[in-house]
Amino acid sequence: MARMRAGSPKFEDAMSSSSRVSVCVLLLTVLLATVHPTSAAVYKVTNAVPNTPGGKRFDQVLGASNMRKVLQDAANFCRGKAFSLSTPKQIATVTLIVESFSGVAFTAGDTIHLSAEYVAGYNPGDSAALRREITGVLYHESAHVWQNGDKGSGQFFGGVIEGIADWVRLRSGFAAAHWTRQRGGNWWDGYETTAFFLDWIQIIKKKNFVNLLNQKMGQAQWSNDFFRQIVGVSVDQLWVQYQNSI
Ligand SMILES: [Zn+2]
Repeated sequence: MARMRAGSPKFEDAMSSSSRVSVCVLLLTVLLATVHPTSAAVYKVTNAVPNTPGGKRFDQVLGASNMRKVLQDAANFCRGKAFSLSTPKQIATVTLIVESFSGVAFTAGDTIHLSAEYVAGYNPGDSAALRREITGVLYHESAHVWQNGDKGSGQFFGGVIEGIADWVRLRSGFAAAHWTRQRGGNWWDGYETTAFFLDWIQIIKKKNFVNLLNQKMGQAQWSNDFFRQIVGVSVDQLWVQYQNSI
């Protein structure tokens, strides 16, 4: 120990200035990696019902390792692109569980639940269609894991939360087969109705709009006025303009 203490200052003194710069860059890299652990999250996939029709199809057609990769790709899309203006969420583990329930999927905290019944019943015999659909579902659910979703409540806030999740699915290239942009409904209906609206705003009115909206949702309690604050036009006026554009 004593030799190490005595030797360390000598080693530093002997370094050239360029070596010191290298050490500084290395330390900075380590520091940044600590502050923004972009690859630190662990992705886990558990099939809780491997002996059911859906559980078997999950293992045969989708596969745990492939779905782990989808979770990782979705996280990279969310953190690196869709929500990159916000402080990265500190999430240690994202878990996907395949289990038995009616419906499609839901997310609670950092855990995504996927219905084995949905996997079993979606386009039987068409493995490619199933892979595409479940990939899209996992992008939607991953958006819930990574988006700013805890500062609001009610139908407007809920509609935007689901709209942003489907926008992530849309813009990552995994839109559901049945989605079409069409007139009608309300801006707060959520899902693809709101997703197409947000996309129109981003293309026509304000670059990076969804990212800016998510950023605001992380800073303050939900307000419909966020639209006006970002775009300069109220959400109700934007909706009318959007409807007229279809
Ligand atoms: Zn959702």
